[in-house]
Amino acid sequence: MSELLKGIAASDGVAVAKAYLLVQPDLSFSKKSITDVEKEKARLDSALDQSKTELEKIKDHAEKTIGTEEAQVFEAHIMILADPDFIGTIKQEIEDQKENAEAALSDVSGNFISTFEAMTDNDYMKERAADIRDVTKRVMSHLLGVNLPDPTMINEEVVIIAKDLAPSDTAQLNRKYVKAFVTDVGGRTAHSAIMARSLEIPAVVGTDKATDLVQSAGDVKIAVNGITGDVIIDPTADEISQFEKAGKDFVQQKEEWAKLKNESTITADGKHFILGANIGTPKDLDGVLDNGGEAIGLYRTEFLYMDSSELPTEDDQFEAYRKVLAGMNGKQVVVRTMDIGGDKHLPYLPLPEEQNPFLGYRAIRISLNKQDIFRTQLRALIRASHYGSLGIMFPMIATVNEFKQAKAIFQEEFDKLKAAGTPVSDDIEVGMMMEIPAAAVLADKFAKVTDFFSIGTNDLIQYTMAADRGNDRVSYLYQPYNPAILRLVKNIIDSAHKEGKWVGMCGEAAGDPIMDCILLGMGLDEYSMSATSILKIRSLMKRIDTSKVVELAEKAVNESVTNEDNIQLVKKYIDI
Ligand code: PEP
Ligand code: MG
Repeated sequence: MSELLKGIAASDGVAVAKAYLLVQPDLSFSKKSITDVEKEKARLDSALDQSKTELEKIKDHAEKTIGTEEAQVFEAHIMILADPDFIGTIKQEIEDQKENAEAALSDVSGNFISTFEAMTDNDYMKERAADIRDVTKRVMSHLLGVNLPDPTMINEEVVIIAKDLAPSDTAQLNRKYVKAFVTDVGGRTAHSAIMARSLEIPAVVGTDKATDLVQSAGDVKIAVNGITGDVIIDPTADEISQFEKAGKDFVQQKEEWAKLKNESTITADGKHFILGANIGTPKDLDGVLDNGGEAIGLYRTEFLYMDSSELPTEDDQFEAYRKVLAGMNGKQVVVRTMDIGGDKHLPYLPLPEEQNPFLGYRAIRISLNKQDIFRTQLRALIRASHYGSLGIMFPMIATVNEFKQAKAIFQEEFDKLKAAGTPVSDDIEVGMMMEIPAAAVLADKFAKVTDFFSIGTNDLIQYTMAADRGNDRVSYLYQPYNPAILRLVKNIIDSAHKEGKWVGMCGEAAGDPIMDCILLGMGLDEYSMSATSILKIRSLMKRIDTSKVVELAEKAVNESVTNEDNIQLVKKYIDI
């Protein structure tokens, strides 16, 4: 029976397709004593055979769809299945302990994993631990007779339903088959949602119970509207045609917007503002150019680190940055140094478990502490500066001193490269993310030492409202138009302008039509967003008279009390 769910609209677009439940099955088992050792070993052999057949299929598929290098990990898994040391020890344990294969597998793999993980200075061994964990899961699933979901093997159109998706899961989704995704948890500014927007996969997050409902509904279709946040499980024929109509309207609307691709962004009273794009990898460049991006306002370099199995070398990084700078043909590219931590992890750079990772050891705090990693990145960037117009910015700056330290390290590396005769640009701008309330309050002091600011509303709102950006239970506190947030934003903009510096916004709020009416009134210079939002915002800005929104912004900051007040204020001025 059809059932409507309301979630958070996370990525525009509409889709109807079969549900694909991406949840890890229950792999718990009971330890049992056995009498027939040979039979138990045969059960294990059969699970090993089935795992091998499955892994060979996955490897073949990965080779065709992702690449030979990426498929190598499955070859390593197949080898573990035949490893005499590992498998031999499991069989020995079945014999010695007279216990079932599940218990022996779990014990032995646990021991192998802890031994490998204890080799803290050996990355290769740590990766083996991760491989053994994966292989154990697969063999266990065959012993227990349950299926492991595998999104890389999807070969028909589906809507993925998951509790949550890590940014790395989102990156692996095949756009040809994955028509949309729906999660139980998450917020609009969680990184999986941001990636869905750049991949143009419609998404609704924070539905709370989609996985439970789909699990009990069985084999059903799902209708997803990523613009309104509506999800229907097992839709009726009428509902399917309504969603399909909404999908067609959206495509038509996009065709209208596409006509603005080669125009610059000029308001009704003739003012030019720059609409830039946020990217995560050089592959996103095509999307930026297709959507008429006038700059890259945020290149999140952490994905370069996350997509790799070890720290990327200076040359690897140089190549990625050079590609983006050259591809933008002289338009500015603002690259943010590594922002690891929070919801972004590196398997090969284990950091201590933290109670509050969003408030912990992350971003510039790691860079200033692990300077070899930071200096490698800066050198790659400085070398790439020769190929375009580069801005560098540091994430999560809380104090003026942090900025000065980071800038001094940049300067040292710049001077060294220049002295060595490396071709570099003399016009690299060095700025910072404005995403911590302490920095926003003290923006006048920061404006004296930076070349520019880029306002990161995703974190600025999270920290100002004390509301985790990935937690749907507190997502009502994601309030970009709350006067408290707007006062900080205004302070940042005014402080920058007083010192003759430019200021942009690269948080998700920069691609929000209501917010942009207020920001134009405050005089924000540059707006950087998911590439897929650029044309929609360009079409909006063409309708706005900035002289009218100056007064509106003043009211929004000084008279309004709530987020809702400001939504009404903007809607009175313009039809959005
Ligand atoms: C932000 O915090 O607004 C931002 C742009 O950075 P990120 O989303 O990568 O934390
Ligand atoms: Mg941030």
